[in-house]
Amino acid sequence: MRAKAVVIEILSSRRPAGSHYSALIRIKTLTSYLSASTVGICAGVSGYALYTLGVMPSLATILPAETPINLTILDDTVVSASLVVFALALSLTLNRFGLRRCWRWILVAVVCVCGIGIAGFMFLNLDLLPIPLLFSGGLALLLTQINRLWSLDRQLARALFQSSQGANDSIGANARLASGLKLLNTVLPLSEAIVFRYDEIDSLQAVARFKGAAPNAQDPRRNSVWREGIDLCQRAATSGELVSQTSPGQNSSTVAVPLLHESETAGVLLVRLASEFSVDDAPLLEAVGSQFARNLERESFVQNPARTQSLSYFSQSGGKRKIDALNVLKAITVEQRCEASTLSHIDDGVAIAYLDGTIALVNRTLLDFAALTSEQISTMDIFDLLNKFRTDIFDEPAIAVRRVLQTGDEYEGELNFVPKNQILNLRISLLRERQPATANEPIGIAIYVKDVTATKEYEKLKSDMISLMSHELRTPLTSINGFAELLTADDTIPPQAREFVSIIANESQRMSRMINTFLSVTQLQRKDKQEVLKIPLRLDEVVRETIASLQPVAKKKRIRLMEQPAHRIPPVAADKGLITQAVKNLVNNAIKYSPERTTVTVSTALEAEAVRVCVEDRGFGIPAEAKERVWDKFYRVVREGQEKDEESTGLGLSFVREVVEQHGGRVDLDSEEGRGSKFSFTLPRL
Ligand code: ADP
Repeated sequence: MRAKAVVIEILSSRRPAGSHYSALIRIKTLTSYLSASTVGICAGVSGYALYTLGVMPSLATILPAETPINLTILDDTVVSASLVVFALALSLTLNRFGLRRCWRWILVAVVCVCGIGIAGFMFLNLDLLPIPLLFSGGLALLLTQINRLWSLDRQLARALFQSSQGANDSIGANARLASGLKLLNTVLPLSEAIVFRYDEIDSLQAVARFKGAAPNAQDPRRNSVWREGIDLCQRAATSGELVSQTSPGQNSSTVAVPLLHESETAGVLLVRLASEFSVDDAPLLEAVGSQFARNLERESFVQNPARTQSLSYFSQSGGKRKIDALNVLKAITVEQRCEASTLSHIDDGVAIAYLDGTIALVNRTLLDFAALTSEQISTMDIFDLLNKFRTDIFDEPAIAVRRVLQTGDEYEGELNFVPKNQILNLRISLLRERQPATANEPIGIAIYVKDVTATKEYEKLKSDMISLMSHELRTPLTSINGFAELLTADDTIPPQAREFVSIIANESQRMSRMINTFLSVTQLQRKDKQEVLKIPLRLDEVVRETIASLQPVAKKKRIRLMEQPAHRIPPVAADKGLITQAVKNLVNNAIKYSPERTTVTVSTALEAEAVRVCVEDRGFGIPAEAKERVWDKFYRVVREGQEKDEESTGLGLSFVREVVEQHGGRVDLDSEEGRGSKFSFTLPRL
C-alpha cells in the first residue's frame, strides 16, 4: 500500500489583503460595543457643544474667499445628529476592526468630509460642518482607542495577577527568607545576617535578620560597624557585585551580596562572618542571594494588594504592581526549571511532551535508551521518540498515545529487545494540572522508561535456582520415603525403631508435599497468562465435586460442609485441574481452621462480569494485621494455644492467589478473629 503524503502548511498570521481568511474576525462582546457607542455619542455631543459655543473656527475664516460671504448654517437638529452619527460610526468601526485594519477607511472618510465641506463652501455657500465633524470624529477615535487599550490592560492585569497568585506557594515569602538565613548559618560561621529590600522610594529597608551569638551591646564599635555595613550594601547595590571587607586584626569580615533576579537588584544581603571571608564562598552567597531576590519579589507582590485594578492603566502604582506580578512569574519559572532539571539526574528515562506532540524535556538516560543525541531529539516529536521503542508488543505507539489521551489511563508495557538483550519497562501517562482552578485538566504526556534487565535476570535466576533445588531435593526424598515405608512393614524390626521409621516416613511425605506445592506455585508464577490452558468450565460443578471429595474430612471433625444453591451460573474460561485444586485448598483450610461442630458453606454467584466462589466458615478467623500476608508464600498465622500443625506449609493460599490471578481474577478475604472467615475469588465470566 502506498503511504499517503501528509501536507501540513503553516499559514502566516499576516495574510495578504483580500485573502479569504481575512473575513474571519473575532466577534466582539456586547459590552465592548456598548462602551464604543457611549464613547462615540459623547464625542459627537462634545463636538456639538463646542460648535454651538462657537469655540471652533468658522470655515469662512480658514478658507480664503474673494468676497466675504454669508454662509448658510444648517439646522441645529441636523448638526447634532450628523456629528453624533459620524462620531458613532467611526468609534464602532474602530472598535470592530481595530486601527490596523480600518485606517484606510478612516482616511477616506476624513478626505470625503474635507472634500464635501470645501465643495459645499465653494459652490453652495453652505457650511457642511467639516471642522466639527473632523473634531468629533477625531475625539471619537482617540477615546475609543484609549478605551480599547484600557480594556486590554485590564485583561492583562487580571491574567497576570491570577497566574502569579495561583502560582504563589503556600510556604509564604517571609518563612522562605527565614529558612534561607538558617541555611546560610549551617554552612557559614554567621554572626549576623540581614536581608535588605528596596522599598517604594528606592531606599534599602531591613526585612529579615539572623543573629548568631548575642553581639556585645556595649561594643563601642557597633555603630561604626553598622555604618560600614550600610556603606558596603550601597556599594554592592550600585555595582551589582559582591563586596567584602575584613576588619584588621579582628578575625571577622562583612560581606554585602546584591540580590539579583534577572539582572535586577531586588535588595542586598549583609552578612557578618565570624571568620575571614574566603572567595570560595562567593558562588554560594550569590546563589542563595538570587533565591532571596526571588523571595523578595514574591513578598513585595504579596504585600502590595491591588486596590483598583480597573484604573491601573492610568496609575503608576498599578504599573509597578504589574511589574511585580511579572517578576513573581519569572521567579516561579526559574524555580520550575529547577524542578525540571532534577529529572536529568535520575537513572530512569523521562520525557515530557506537550499536548501538541512537541517534546518539552528529555533526560540523558532516555536519550541513551533511544540511542539519540540532543541534536536529533530537537527535531523530533513524541511519536518519533516512541518509534525508537517499537517492539512486537509495542508496534503502534500512536494507538498507545491515543488510548492514554482518550481514557486518561496509564499505558504500561514491557519491551524486550532481544538483540540488545535488554528489557525496558515503558509507561506513558497523562499529566494533569494541579492548580485548583483548572484541576485535572490534561497538560502533557509523560514517558518513563526503566531498565529492568538486571531485575528480570535476577528473578529468573532465583526461580531457576528454586526449582532446581526442589527437583534435587525431591529425588532423595522419594528414596527416603520409599525405604522408610518398606521398613515400617518389616515385622522383624523392634517396635520402638518401627515408630521412629514411621515418623521418618510421615515427615518425608510432608516435605515432598510441601516441595510439590512450592513447585507448582513457582511454575505458575513463571507462566504467562496465555500459557494456562483454558476451557469453558462451570464453577458450580467444580464446587459440587470438591464438596463431595472433602465430605469425609469434614465428617471427621463433625463439620457440616454444604453448598449454597445458586441459579444459572455462566461458565468461565479456566484450567479445571488448577481451579479445582484452588477451591480444594480453600475448603480444606476452612475445615482445618474451624472448631468441631461448625458449618462451612461454599457458594457460587454471578456478579456483573464475573463469577464469585465464596468459602465461608465459623472458625478461628484471621487477625486484621495478617489479612494481607496470608496470601504470601510460607506465611502462617500464629495462634495462641494452637499446636503446630504438621500439615501446614503456608503455601496453600499463595497457590490459590497465583491460580486466580493467572486466570485474570481476584482474591478477597473478609474475616473477623474468633468469628470466622470468608475467602472468595472471582473469575471473568464467558
Ligand atoms: P497452610 O494452611 O498450609 O498453613 P495457607 O497458605 O493455606 O497455608 O494458609 C496460611 C495461613 O492462613 C494459615 O496458617 C492459617 O492460619 C490461615 N488460614 C487460612 N485459611 C484460614 C481459615 N479459613 N480460617 C482461619 N485461618 C486460615
